[in-house]
Amino acid sequence: MADKTIFQRIIDREIPSDIVFEDDEFIAIRDIAPKAPVHLLVIPKRLSTRVDEIADEAEMGRLWLTATRVARAHLQDYRLIVNVGPGGGQEVFHTHVHVLGGWTGGHPVG
Ligand code: 5GP
Repeated sequence: MADKTIFQRIIDREIPSDIVFEDDEFIAIRDIAPKAPVHLLVIPKRLSTRVDEIADEAEMGRLWLTATRVARAHLQDYRLIVNVGPGGGQEVFHTHVHVLGGWTGGHPVG
């Protein structure tokens, strides 16, 4: 069996994380190396290695709905970012949506 991803190990409670939301299908945690004052990761429990592997419209819809709900629970304004593939900056090959926000004076340009 292939090695579990770091996020699968978090889902399975094999390693600790700061969990901010969980239901049957998703978990949301604080990023261990935050790139913004608030930096959360919304992770589907069903493994796909990258977001464009999700073929089911309802599943994709629930991912974005969950990401926006988790974001709004913590932030008024925010960024949602998905890195896709090594060339897109993806380092953990278990689909996840970054929620970034909490900058004072507006987000940095870029
Ligand atoms: P990617 O570059 O794959 O889009 O983002 C992966 C993110 O996962 C990075 O922002 C990184 O800091 C975060 N990360 C990596 N390992 C861990 C971990 O063990 N725990 C948590 N909470 N975040 C992690």
